[in-house]
Amino acid sequence: MADLGLREIIHLILKIRDSLATMSYNSAQPSILIIYTGGTIGMIENPETGALLNFDFEQFRCHVPELKQFHLQIHSYAFEPPIDSSDMEPKHWVEIAKIIADNYDVYDGFVVLHGTDTMAFTASALSFMLENLGKPVVITGAQLPIGKLRTDGKENLLTSIEIAAARNSAGEPMVPEVCIFFESQLMRGNRTTKINAEGFNAFRSFNYPPLAVAGVHIRYNNLLIRRPDSSRPFRSHFSLGTGIFILTIFPGIQKEYVDVVIQMKNLRALIIKTYGSGNAPQKPWLLDKLRELDRRGVILVNITQCSQGTVEMHRYATGLQLLQAGAVNGYDGTLESTVSKLMFLLGQNYSKEEILTLLNTSIAGEITLSSEA
Ligand code: ASP
Repeated sequence: MADLGLREIIHLILKIRDSLATMSYNSAQPSILIIYTGGTIGMIENPETGALLNFDFEQFRCHVPELKQFHLQIHSYAFEPPIDSSDMEPKHWVEIAKIIADNYDVYDGFVVLHGTDTMAFTASALSFMLENLGKPVVITGAQLPIGKLRTDGKENLLTSIEIAAARNSAGEPMVPEVCIFFESQLMRGNRTTKINAEGFNAFRSFNYPPLAVAGVHIRYNNLLIRRPDSSRPFRSHFSLGTGIFILTIFPGIQKEYVDVVIQMKNLRALIIKTYGSGNAPQKPWLLDKLRELDRRGVILVNITQCSQGTVEMHRYATGLQLLQAGAVNGYDGTLESTVSKLMFLLGQNYSKEEILTLLNTSIAGEITLSSEA
């Protein structure tokens, strides 16, 4: 998987150093690093074509004079060029994770500005790559560019900064997690899905309640927020594996279609998107194909096409057959978190058995375990 080279890392450190040098530093104030990757929040309309294009972070700053009103040290790192999140690749997740890891001791919190299309994938990936995180990483964006009068971007950005800087009475960060803030909800990043291409409430966390809700006050659900294990250090991981494919089950699915998947040489993990509580049609050829993949060492993960609820393969014969063919329970994990969790696990040199165990373990709060294995 693509990785940052030494030159890019030096370039990155120099960019942040330059950004720091231009600002006075007051160590008594909490410090926040904004990582601007692109997305609608920072786009501007091409007057001729009407299409939205990215603009740079300095132009972006001019549209948010409110940033100066925070009693915070706010510094920034911007992708050059900023990108539409449809162009996000795992190498960009690595870039974001490296910026956070390299600056982990310097800043109290991080705000990532990101396009909405793949925000849930990035949030999920970062939740696995940043192990035992003790500082907030709040990802946000907008449905309307920051330059538009009715933009939702300003409110999303300003509230995200406030959350990233928030401390409890013991002086600890309120939310030391990778999360997404959108409209009025702060959600665990690896539980979110983009559900709306039109409304301002673009994200939902169907299987885990919001970590905080922003109204007149920001109300935190402290009992739901993950805290780091103080006996272990923060660790970052930059290696991600490849070879994942998604097979969506549908009525009338044909053998030839599944054959194409089976023939993929580099296939290492297959996510099967099943019906309801983890069910698939009872076709002997389908089970034969899955058994063949399992024998080849391919990891089979069963997640549901439903937005809400969990996989329970013991519930129906149509689910049990998948368990018997070697599929592992993906519980109530989102597609986004299942894909990025697999990439993360495949990048760590674990054996198949270890990966199967970790798929049935909540490593960053991404699944709700039930009694079914
Ligand atoms: N295509 C844009 C992106 O994901 C959409 C957005 O930001 O809302 O970058």
